[in-house]
Formats: sequence, structure tokens, C-alpha cells
Amino acid sequence: MMRDYHAAEIDACLDTLGATAGGLSTSDAAQRLETHGANRLPQPPKRPAILRFLSHFHNILIYVLLGSAVITLVLQHYTDTAVILAVVIANAVIGFIQEGKAERAMESIRGMLAPHAAVLRDGERRSIQAEELVPGDVVLLEAGDKVPADLRLIRAHGLQVQEAILTGESVPVEKATAPVAGDAALGDRSSMAYSGTMVTSGQGRGLVVATGAHTEIGRISGLLAEVEVLATPLVRQMNVFAKWLTILILLIAAVLLVYGYFVEHHDFTEMFMAVVGLSVAAIPEGLPAVLTITLAVGVQAMARRNAIVRRLPAIETLGSVSVICTDKTGTLTRNEMMVASVAVTGHLFSFEGTGYEPEGAVLLADSRVNGLDHLHLIELAQAAASCNDASLHLRDGFWTVEGDPMEGALLALAGKVGVDVSQELSARTRTDEIPFDSRHKFMATLHHDRPGHADIFVKGAPEQILAMCAEQRGASGDSAPLDEAFWTDRADSMAAQGQRVLAIATRQVARDQTAIDFDDVEGGLVLVGLVGLIDPPRAESIEAVAECRRAGIRVKMITGDHAGTAAAIGKLIGLESTGKVLTGRDLDMMDDAELAVAVSTVDIFARTNPEHKLRLVMALQSLGITVAMTGDGVNDAPALKRADAGIAMGRKGSEAAKEAAELVLADDNFASIVAAVREGRTVYDNIKKVISWTLPTNAGEAMTIVVALLFGMTLPITPVQILWVNLITAVTLGIALAFEPTEDNTMRRPPRPRDEPLLTGTLGWHIVFVSMLFLGGVFGIYAYAVDRGYSVDLARTMALNTLVVMEIFHLFFIRNIYGTSLTWKAVRATPVVWATVIAVTAAQFAITYIGPLQRVFATEAVPLSDGVLIVATGVMLFAIIEAEKQVRLSLTGRTRYRAGVE
Ligand code: ADP
Ligand code: MG
Repeated sequence: MMRDYHAAEIDACLDTLGATAGGLSTSDAAQRLETHGANRLPQPPKRPAILRFLSHFHNILIYVLLGSAVITLVLQHYTDTAVILAVVIANAVIGFIQEGKAERAMESIRGMLAPHAAVLRDGERRSIQAEELVPGDVVLLEAGDKVPADLRLIRAHGLQVQEAILTGESVPVEKATAPVAGDAALGDRSSMAYSGTMVTSGQGRGLVVATGAHTEIGRISGLLAEVEVLATPLVRQMNVFAKWLTILILLIAAVLLVYGYFVEHHDFTEMFMAVVGLSVAAIPEGLPAVLTITLAVGVQAMARRNAIVRRLPAIETLGSVSVICTDKTGTLTRNEMMVASVAVTGHLFSFEGTGYEPEGAVLLADSRVNGLDHLHLIELAQAAASCNDASLHLRDGFWTVEGDPMEGALLALAGKVGVDVSQELSARTRTDEIPFDSRHKFMATLHHDRPGHADIFVKGAPEQILAMCAEQRGASGDSAPLDEAFWTDRADSMAAQGQRVLAIATRQVARDQTAIDFDDVEGGLVLVGLVGLIDPPRAESIEAVAECRRAGIRVKMITGDHAGTAAAIGKLIGLESTGKVLTGRDLDMMDDAELAVAVSTVDIFARTNPEHKLRLVMALQSLGITVAMTGDGVNDAPALKRADAGIAMGRKGSEAAKEAAELVLADDNFASIVAAVREGRTVYDNIKKVISWTLPTNAGEAMTIVVALLFGMTLPITPVQILWVNLITAVTLGIALAFEPTEDNTMRRPPRPRDEPLLTGTLGWHIVFVSMLFLGGVFGIYAYAVDRGYSVDLARTMALNTLVVMEIFHLFFIRNIYGTSLTWKAVRATPVVWATVIAVTAAQFAITYIGPLQRVFATEAVPLSDGVLIVATGVMLFAIIEAEKQVRLSLTGRTRYRAGVE
């Protein structure tokens, strides 16, 4: 029997779609999926590969290079033309491949966020991928869900839907099952719930009438235009920096060209090539591509650790988080609930058993009893099983819950007591309900049994329920006045043992009452008893909390649970301050200033509601703290949005919470947050490493050319050679830094200040220092070669190889910006480092020793002894910068030292 007043109209609707209110069968659904196709919006057509490839030529530097190619062609320097073109094309190919990798990384992550829908299939509630929905499916909706397809509602309880995506109206609208006029405007079709809109409160059921492109949203937008570029504030800042640097350098180059030609009367071709060389040398053209790869690598690393990045800036923010505000249930704890004790009038029972198996001993004062001998216990079990939305299933020999684990535990309890849950449910028809909400902290259901009684069952937080009760079950099954002090005491002592406490109450109402609202439960209930559930902390949480402490991150637990339970769990997982617990009521009595003071010392907040989360985030932020906040419910969205890093639960989280969050945890596990923070710090470090490795190289090269020009010397490295170094070797080596693993001390240093600038004095110094050394190395070798009477070409070949060797040694130095680079572990490096070093070395040998390439790059074979000298120069460079780092390490203290980056 369905509760609705428009049965005829709904039946017609079901008939049209060949559906029933109990849902489709699996086989029928599969068949419909074939005919109707997947429930997804058509993807925007991918840009054709050729266009994506060509876009890598859309860049000022490339235009300059192409221009130079034309000019060299006119000047009949054909090899230069060929080299410039080859390098430009090679650069585009490298960029194209990298971009493809980065995009695939992002796509696979988006796939992990695919929405789910709760449907009735084969008469059972099931969670399926929203893509698999077909017309005729019956979808279950609750607060926080995103409507997965266009639905004709067949049940609605206080259902409100926010339809801004379709109507632009952000105030949620009431939904009901009553038919509306056929020509009603979209916003007035209250019997429909449309795909993409968000359920803000209540519950409902709807029949799928349109999926995919046939939905209203599919018709309006046609496309799912959700292309996110791989960028974060930092990377964007670097891109802007690179663009302006390019423009600046091109202007300087132009001035130099004019000056050299008209004032110094240099040969135009030579001047022109020198200026092109300067531009190529000074512009960090590989930087944006390498930064993009660094981010993509970070996003993938986080996904491997079950943290799915929804908005890329989160990667950076996570690295600077200094307070993590986390839920308790399911995040710090396992959310595998088990009833440990039940208190009813006169008795305190305890229970044995494993997991959700609905079988196990009932103990009274340590001796086994038969649950069915105790009337109060039976009544409690019946109420707990009825005021319940979960179901237990035996799968592969294991009992599992579909729905809320706590409710699953109550079903298992009923089984232990001896109450047959399915019989119980069929004996009574649930006619209405008030769903659980973390604001009012209870759930109520109305039931009618065959003899015609109507009962309300309520379960919820004890304080809440006790305040709604006037009586309690008396010794002989009748009602007696409520002994509130006794029950409060009981609840507190259960909570002090770390149990989550639920109170269960009931009330009989008139037999013709078919709906309940808050007035029906706000007073006059009869208390049946208390249930204490245990939910052990996850072993990983304890380790992760300790890791946070080492990393200078404070963990705060914000829970809707009882203060005693929260304190007990807080102690188990090792929160910093477990002595003091503030409850939601305490918070309500504080003004913002008092809250800001309290929030810095207290780590446990109990009996809070989602509004408190928002206030706590703002209080922490007012202290200049970067805050990560977890959430799952629809009401958590504002706090998640407000937090610097909003983190939604992937499993138990609502779609609303996921949409508001920057990060989604695939496993709802606190340890994954900490892993994400570690990755965030690593990515930030690697971005810094890429920058501190690239910029000195560019500056060193540019200075080499400027110095040669200023002193009227021959260029120690030709522009074509510089082109090669910058566009091929620099990008290849730079990519190794994107894959750098987490450094040992990453989680042992305090978080980076929120607005720490990237280009700091130390980085400036590092650039100047290293580029001077590069300059010295290149000129030194060049001068030595000239002194030995070598040809200019051989001298240049040696200078070129010296530059690359120094780049490689500089790379090994940069890998360990926080510690000594001279450890076995550091030298052993990663396979990526070695692969790029080997590739670049092989390429250097090729252009140095292979005939045709020698002609192209104007190189000559370097004698072995000079080769040794070149490598020795690299070793010298390494020794000098490492010694300089050690000097500063000893002066500034190891932990605070950030070579070249701070
Ligand atoms: P938490 O932060 O531990 O997830 P919640 O806000 O979910 O806290 O729950 C707060 C309190 O509300 C719980 O301690 C419990 O007493 C009660 N409660 C939780 N879930 C339900 C439910 N499904 N039905 C009734 N009461 C519930
Ligand atoms: Mg909860």
C-alpha cells in the first residue's frame, strides 16, 4: 500500500512506462539500457588532435622562433633554419604528449567521482551508477542527493528541491505528488524532480521518465561543458610571470639588436642570431609544461591515496593546512557499529556477537538470558527495527549493511533479542516519517498495524529524546513518570565508555492519523530505553593523528555525538587536548571573539550541528589559520565551501557536500586526509624545485650571451645550441622533478605560512649564485679550450657539454632542498631521474660525436681527457653549491632551512 493521494494518476504514469512502484527487474533494466542508452549528457566533442597539437605553436616565443627561421632562410643559413624548425616541432611534440598524459590523468579522476543513485531493482533498494538509470526505474531521493534523471514523483515527504541550475531560482521549491497542468512552466511542475537539481530536505521516490540527453538539463545545455584547466593560483602566477618575462626579454633583445647593428655596426646576421639566442636562453619556455605535469602527477598521487581532487587549487592549499577539523563517525572511527549495551527500566543488558550478524548472546549481569523473556527489551528491539531505513544482507558468508551502519547495528540487535525483523516490518505499515537530520538529531516514524493501532517510534540523541518524553515504561509494561536524572546519568556513563548513545521512545496516536510532524513528537513520548553502540577508532587514525602532530597540524574533532563519547574517542586516537570538550550549546553562548580564543585550545566539539561547523571555520580563519574541514551532509555544504580545503566523504557523503568540497575521500578515512596533505606538501615542494632548477639555468645562459655581447667576444655557445639545451634537455630533465618523491622530513616540519611568497630573497640569491657559477663554468671551459689552441667549434662543443653537465649536477642538488644531497639515498635517486639523465647524456653524446649531427649543431668530437674535465666541472659546481647549502644549514638550523626556495 502506497501512501499518496494521487494513486490513479501515478498508476497511469507507471503503466505508460511499463513500470511498477517496486522498480524494474535487473534484466528489464539491462534491456532498457540497450534501447535508451546510458544516462549521461553528451560530452563536448574533443578538440581534434591536430588542433591540440597546433595550439602548442601558439606562444610568443614560438612566433619569434618561426620568424627567426624565416629570416635565417632568407639569409640562407639553411642549417639554422632546419634546427630551429626541428626544435620547435620537437618542443610541440613533447608538449602535446605531456598534455595528453595530464588530461588523461584528470579524466580518470573525474570518472572516480561518478554519481550514484539509490533505486529499487528486483524490489530491493540498491545503489547503482547514475549512468545505468533507465526510464521506468524507481529512484529513492533524500536530502543532499543530486536528482540523477528526470523523475515523476510518486512519493514525497517534505521534499524540497533547489532548481537553480534549471530555473535560476536558488530558493528550494516544495515538491509533491499531485499532478499539475500539462502546460505548467518548468518551475511550477511540482510533481517532477529534474536531473541535476539538488534535494535540500525531505525524502521522496520518483519514476524515471527521461534520461541522458532527453532530460530537461540535457535539452537546455546539450553539452556537459566541464573543462577544467590544469592550473592553481601558484601555477597561474608562474604563467603570468613567464609571459611578462618573455615580453621583457624580447624588448631587451630588440634594443640590443638595434644597438648592436646601428651603433656598434656588428654584422646583422650574427647580431640577429645572438639576439635570438639570448631570447631563447632567458625565457623559461619549458616551465609551464613542466608545472602542469607536476600538478597532474600530484593529482594522480592523491587519487592513489584515495583523495580525489575536485578543484586543483586544493593541492596547494592542502600543503599549507595547519588545522584539520574532522568528523568522528566513520572518519576517525570505522563506522562499523555494534550494540554493546541496552538500558531499559530495571535492567542493563549487554550483547555479544561479531559484525552485523543478527545472532549472539544477550547477557544480563554477565549471565546469558533469552531476550524474548524481557518485554521491555522486545519493545525496544521492535521500535529500533521499525524506525530504521537500513537492511542487512548475507553476502558471501558475511553480514553487510545497506544504509546507515548504526541502523544496521540496531537490526542486528533485534535479531539477537529474537525479534524477527521482516515479520515485524510486514506486521506494521510505515505511513510517514521525519527523517534524521543532524540539526534535530532524531528520526521518527509512524506505523499502522493490522488490528488498527497507530504508533510513533522515535530514536535519537538522548538529551533530545528525553526532552520530548513525559513518561517511561514502568516495571510492568505500563507507563510511569519519567525519571530524567536517572536516564541522563545512564546515558553519560555509557558515553564515558566511548559508546554512542541512542534513546528510543514511542507513543500511540489516533488510528486515523496518517502523517506526523514535529508537534506529534515534541512532547508526550514514552521512553523505552537507551542503546549504547560501539564504533572502534580506525587503527590508521591513531597513526595519522600522530603524524599530524609531528607535521605541526592540529586535529580537531567536530561531532554531533555526545560529549562523553567524543572525549573517550578523542583520548583513544590521541588528540592533543582531550581535557576540555565544548558542546554546541557552549558555542551558542560565545560571541565570535570568545570563540576565536576557545577554538585555539579546545580540540573536541560535541553535540554540534552544521551551523557550528561554519562558525568554527570562520573563528579559525580569523586567527589566520588555513583550515581543512570534513563534511558529509547537505547542511555541511556552507562550512565546506568556507573552509580553505573542504573535504567531502565519498561513501557516506551527499552529492551536495561533494559539490561544495575541493577534495573527496574515496574511503572516508581520516588517514587519507593526512596522505593528501603530505602529497600537497610534496607537490608544492616539487613546483618550487622545478622553478629553482629552471630559473638559474636560464639566467646563467642569458648572462653568458650578454657578457659575450658586452665584451665583444665570440659567443661561447651558439644560439642553435642554446635552443637545443633549453627546449630539449631542460624540459626532459625538468620533468624528473615533477616525479620527485616526498622528502623524509616533509611531515616533520611546520606547515608553510598561508601566503608565503614563492619568489623570496633566498630564491633570488640562489638564482644569482648558481647562474654566476654557470657563467664561470662555461667561460672557464671555453677559455681553457681557446688557450689550448682548439678550434672555436670544439671550444663551443665543450662549453655546451659543460652547461648540460652542470644542469645535471644542479638537478641532483635541487632534489634535496631540505637536507643533504650527499647521502646514498639521495644519490641513488629515482628511476625517473636516472631515465632523464641517461636520455640527456645519450643525446649529448649523439650531437657531440655523430657526423651529421655535428654538422647541424656545428660541434666537434671532444677528446676523452677534456670530457673528464667537463664532468669534473659539474662535480665542482655540485661541491660548491652543496657546501654553500651546508654553511647556511649550520647557520639557520636544519628544519627551517629551505635552500634556494624560501
Ligand atoms: P556524527 O558527527 O557522530 O556523525 P551525527 O550528527 O551524525 O554525529 O549524529 C548526532 C547524534 O544523532 C548521534 O549521536 C545519535 O545520537 C543521533 N543519530 C545519528 N544518526 C541517527 C539516525 N539515523 N537516527 C536517529 N538518531 C541518529
Ligand atoms: Mg553522522
